[in-house]
Amino acid sequence: MNYGLTGSEVLLTLIETAKMDIPFIDIHSHSANDNSGVITIQSFFLQELNPSISTYFTAAIHPWHVGMFSIEEVKAMLEKMTGHPGLIAIGETGLDKVCLSDYVHQKLIFALHIGFAERNNLPLIIHSVRSWNDMIGYLKKIRVPFIVHGYNSGREISRQLLHIGGYFSIGKAILNSTPRFIEEIKTIPLTSLFLETDESTAAIEEIYLEMSKIRGISLADLKYQVYENYNKLFPKFELKI
Ligand SMILES: [Zn+2]
Repeated sequence: MNYGLTGSEVLLTLIETAKMDIPFIDIHSHSANDNSGVITIQSFFLQELNPSISTYFTAAIHPWHVGMFSIEEVKAMLEKMTGHPGLIAIGETGLDKVCLSDYVHQKLIFALHIGFAERNNLPLIIHSVRSWNDMIGYLKKIRVPFIVHGYNSGREISRQLLHIGGYFSIGKAILNSTPRFIEEIKTIPLTSLFLETDESTAAIEEIYLEMSKIRGISLADLKYQVYENYNKLFPKFELKI
């Protein structure tokens, strides 16, 4: 039954319906979410990872925790994950000038994560707090794709990250955003965008809804675009919808 629609109108309707069935992808969360219609990529602190996990995940030593481990210990912990079928990216890892961890040690541990990601051809999930001067230097050199999680920086950093092919993941900051950040969000190409809940109790659906309003696109189109971005960045890790 086509209710008097033309062939191309039927096709368009089918495409729109299929887009609505695409899940909300939460690219970075520290908790599991069993809600139907949501696919959560859980991010583990490597020291807490249960290796029998059966869903897609990311893991790393967080910059906050690097002081707990020596270089050799981190190397061994990373190597243990080699070939794990659920490991889709390394992170979150990076640099944080606000936390108490020794900054030189942070850099050494970050470099280990980069090396492991490159050897295993896995993207990186980046944590960067007040460390952009150093971070941009690292990101310019890495040979795997990366997502900057919890992104909330300004025009100049966005420009530099885009120039080197970075992806941006935006989280709860969008729910209480300043006019300046809203303007910034509008300039990030939709093809470079992910959304996340991180540690927040906000629902990923809320974050998508806010983004769809700011960008003036439908929720279905936004979900479809993030799904496309996921498939581009993680071609080996197909989502089972
Ligand atoms: Zn996080």
